[in-house]
Amino acid sequence: MDCVFCKIVEKQISSDNIYEDDEILSFKDSNPQAPIHALVIPKKHIVSVDKLRENEEKIIGHMFLKIKDIAKKLNCRNGYRIVSNCGKGAGQAVFHLHFHLLGGRALAWPPGLKNDLF
Ligand code: AMP
Ligand code: ZN
Repeated sequence: MDCVFCKIVEKQISSDNIYEDDEILSFKDSNPQAPIHALVIPKKHIVSVDKLRENEEKIIGHMFLKIKDIAKKLNCRNGYRIVSNCGKGAGQAVFHLHFHLLGGRALAWPPGLKNDLF
């Protein structure tokens, strides 16, 4: 499958890994948007939150419990943000489910800027 994150899981593309187990992988984003910018992905190819199936409930819970540990490991002392862009209009560029974990600086709210699709 021509999916960059599947290739990272398969170790065909290198990544700066933070955490790995049988179900999930976390690595540093190659184009960081904050001093701390990790990605957390399921090893299984799931397209996005919007395409989740009932039998994938457990892996999402697992990912969130590990995100908490990863945030601690990365020293997100003043808080952090978890983001999942779902669909092109929301800025999704890689169609393999991932959660961005952002921290290390103040994060404005509301997030994001206008893009061409809206
Ligand atoms: P999104 O726009 O939400 O789909 O986010 C995709 C993210 O994946 C972006 O922040 C990219 O910088 C990141 N990314 C793409 N390719 C790689 C890669 N080979 N290694 C690490 N991060 C990547
Ligand atoms: Zn994939």
